[in-house]
Amino acid sequence: MNKIYDAIGIGIGPFNLSLAALTNDLDEADILFFEQEVSFDWHPGMLIEGMDLQTPFIADLVTFADPTNRFSYLNYLYKHNRMYSFFFFNRFTIPREEYNAYCKWVASELSNCQFGQCVTDVSEVPDKSCYAVTVLSIEDGSKKIYYAKHIILGTGSIPNIPAPLQGFPEEDITHTSRYTYFQDALKEGSSITVVGSGQSASEVFYDLLKDQKNCGYDLTWFTRSGGIFQKEDTGLGREVFSPEYIDYFHNLTMEARMESLENLSTIRNGVDPKLLEKIYELLYNRSIESALHEVTIQTNTAVNAIEAQTDSNTESYRLQCEQWQKGEKFTYHTDKVILATGYKPYLPDWLENFYEKIEWEDEKRFRVTADYRLVFKDSRENQIFTLTNIEHSHGSSATNLGLSVLRNQKIINSIVGKEVYSTPDQAVFQQFEMKKS
Ligand SMILES: Cc1cc2nc3c(=O)[nH]c(=O)nc-3n(C[C@H](O)[C@H](O)[C@H](O)COP(=O)(O)OP(=O)(O)OC[C@H]3O[C@@H](n4cnc5c(N)ncnc54)[C@H](O)[C@@H]3O)c2cc1C
Repeated sequence: MNKIYDAIGIGIGPFNLSLAALTNDLDEADILFFEQEVSFDWHPGMLIEGMDLQTPFIADLVTFADPTNRFSYLNYLYKHNRMYSFFFFNRFTIPREEYNAYCKWVASELSNCQFGQCVTDVSEVPDKSCYAVTVLSIEDGSKKIYYAKHIILGTGSIPNIPAPLQGFPEEDITHTSRYTYFQDALKEGSSITVVGSGQSASEVFYDLLKDQKNCGYDLTWFTRSGGIFQKEDTGLGREVFSPEYIDYFHNLTMEARMESLENLSTIRNGVDPKLLEKIYELLYNRSIESALHEVTIQTNTAVNAIEAQTDSNTESYRLQCEQWQKGEKFTYHTDKVILATGYKPYLPDWLENFYEKIEWEDEKRFRVTADYRLVFKDSRENQIFTLTNIEHSHGSSATNLGLSVLRNQKIINSIVGKEVYSTPDQAVFQQFEMKKS
């Protein structure tokens, strides 16, 4: 007889890693997790030295569910003899590189995670009593089938690059997700252009600005946005990343949810104010002795297409740009481009097996219950939970590390069928609608 796991988790980014950490030592849930990469690594192409995590360390993989859990960030510090240096560091935010090191440590301690294993198919067994999960070993190409009552989709996101900006050598035109792999080649150009204005664009621009004096390139920053804005950084503003707001948001109509996401766009896409200050300080200091003619920053400007400049001897590119507010189109020459054009949810091909069986809110967004299940047209005991593609159903906190533990608490409670982890009662000071008496 084949073993039937309570659940199989697909993809081990921080979201499923948290689920793995919260269930590894739990008798009530036997869950196995698969990751196609050979080891845990969190956005390695964006691990730029000195950049911080946007969420405080308390939002680690387990603490919100269980501060005594051995996979807490504080225990990582303790085990690595870093408690005192962290005490003197005296900050709530931590370097992104250290968050990655912490996650790697957790992954290495867990017995329920398998790396180098790509899930290539998920289907229902004929009597619908469980799911069959086909797993390909990256090392030797062998395939194995596992069975589970439930599936947890944690396949994360992939770079979102508009078609007219695709297809060029990566040492010249790179998405931010691969920046650290190509930064040396990029810095060899005599002109570099950053496209976009979110957190990733700002981090890359700052890194390039710091090195500009050593390398001598001209630096340009184009963004379609009306400005380069900071993210909301006050307590009441941050309360939209709260359990209460998630519940409120989930109960809205699809139209109201999409409108709300639009209204909250600076909270979702704004930049860490400390980073924007550092950029401004550096620009200011550089401008003391001479005008900053090698730096161009222009908002309201879309880069619509890239063309290789075949008439020149060196690799160089023409950007087809538009200052959309004035309706002015222009061509801009540059050697290198970094595309900070964001990410989109990654939905694996095998999900097509379920397209007709689940409900959709529109052609790309499936319907998701409050406890993160896909809604099947028939009633069933075996569920597909999702941590991916849930911004439309659960709001701006869908990709926020701070709220992923709460999400996992709810999923674990649903799988086990009882409250293993209690969820908070009153987390915020404000309310989002009049309470019913
Ligand atoms: C550069 C960057 C910085 C960020 N910083 C912050 C921050 O500071 N604070 C914050 O709250 N949020 C941050 N985010 C947002 C969010 O927290 C991250 O995107 C986070 O990594 C999401 O975790 P995840 O587990 O959903 O997905 P991912 O980290 O994308 O992991 C998904 C995993 O699934 C694997 N996978 C996919 N398909 C398969 C398959 N078929 N079989 C096996 N494995 C598969 C992939 O290889 C990948 O490892 C950041 C995002 C980016 C891009």
